[in-house]
Amino acid sequence: MPLYFDNAASTPLHASALAAMMPYLSDNYTNPSSIYTPARAARKAIDEARVTVASTINAKPEEIYFTGSGTEAINWAIRGVLEAQAQKGRHVVTTAAEHHATLYTCKHLEKLGYEITYLPVDAEGYVAPEAVSAAIRNDTVLVSIIMANNEVGTIQPMAAIGEITRKAGITLHTDAVQAVGHIQVDVEALQVDILSLSAHKFYGPKGVGAQYIKKGTRIAPLLIGGAQERGRRAGTENVAGIVGLAAALSVSAAEMAGEELRISALRDMLINEILARIPHTRLNGPRTNRLPGNVNVSFSFIEGESLLLHLDMLGCQASTGSACSSGALAPSHVLTAMGLSHELANGAIRFSLGRDNTAQDIDNLMVMLEKSVARLRELSPLYDDFCKNLLVPPTKEA
Ligand SMILES: *Cc1c(COP(=O)(O)O)cnc(C)c1O
Repeated sequence: MPLYFDNAASTPLHASALAAMMPYLSDNYTNPSSIYTPARAARKAIDEARVTVASTINAKPEEIYFTGSGTEAINWAIRGVLEAQAQKGRHVVTTAAEHHATLYTCKHLEKLGYEITYLPVDAEGYVAPEAVSAAIRNDTVLVSIIMANNEVGTIQPMAAIGEITRKAGITLHTDAVQAVGHIQVDVEALQVDILSLSAHKFYGPKGVGAQYIKKGTRIAPLLIGGAQERGRRAGTENVAGIVGLAAALSVSAAEMAGEELRISALRDMLINEILARIPHTRLNGPRTNRLPGNVNVSFSFIEGESLLLHLDMLGCQASTGSACSSGALAPSHVLTAMGLSHELANGAIRFSLGRDNTAQDIDNLMVMLEKSVARLRELSPLYDDFCKNLLVPPTKEA
């Protein structure tokens, strides 16, 4: 059995989600826009899924739109608001610790002449609500802030930010892809206008997401064509995906209270074990108020990528934090924004726990980690230098 600790990259499909999807992957292949009986059944399944998603985040069903992914929802939020509210200006406020879906969309917009303010984050990854307030200008159209960070698990003070943007009359979007299904998300309490989520981060299928858009929010469509999703997201619906998203979300929501506690306890156990048993390690992100399943640790003197490969050979799957940047040698923009040196950022690994992980998994992981880190440090010139400096008193050097 592989030890899977990459639930922030993707999760296994829940059995009940697969079961709910099966009819729409087999017998019922109709287009939900058609008028005959099986098509009306597919339409009804989509409508019911919309009700499920809405009730989970305290929205109304008519405020939920299904998309082709979390990335699509995020692109739509940012580009759609800028297009529909173009007369207001061309300025966006975001943070330096966003997912690439937001960061690279903003970088692209800069090339098109938009102005983006990337708010700094502190050593634990938090953005200050006062900084959001101070960054708002007359021509600010959108504030887009990630609700829970995918690399280090920091949960942002969204309600305080929502209060600021609501007062200022500025549209607030949040990338809640890591939050929904894992921690309580209430769009009314947070005062967000647009919220993006993705099924495969909470035991649903890949390639389907959803967008909450508060009634009255001005946003242009991203995809233009048919009248699906009330004319705001054209394209024949991914019926199986949508049904699977809702089925997975209802399980996650029903089990959330217990799972949040259980998984946070495993998270804290893993953090404590690593910091106690492996020297020269550092936790990235906050101790509390972090995603239940997120552990991000820097191992000094070694490369995170090498450690990942080592762990992979032992049958353990983890990540350096952002699937989209693996293979690249550049250190994580999130960790560098938090003030980590390149060395510590390159030595970081994310273990993201999920519904299948047990305390036994943590024990097994610790055995592998101790062995792998020790082995890689034996080979590390940086570690060699460090040990020599410790052993040889400087006076004897010259
Ligand atoms: C995974 C992820 C996304 C992208 O969602 P996809 O459905 O994979 O496109 C966006 N933001 C965050 C925080 C994520 O973790």
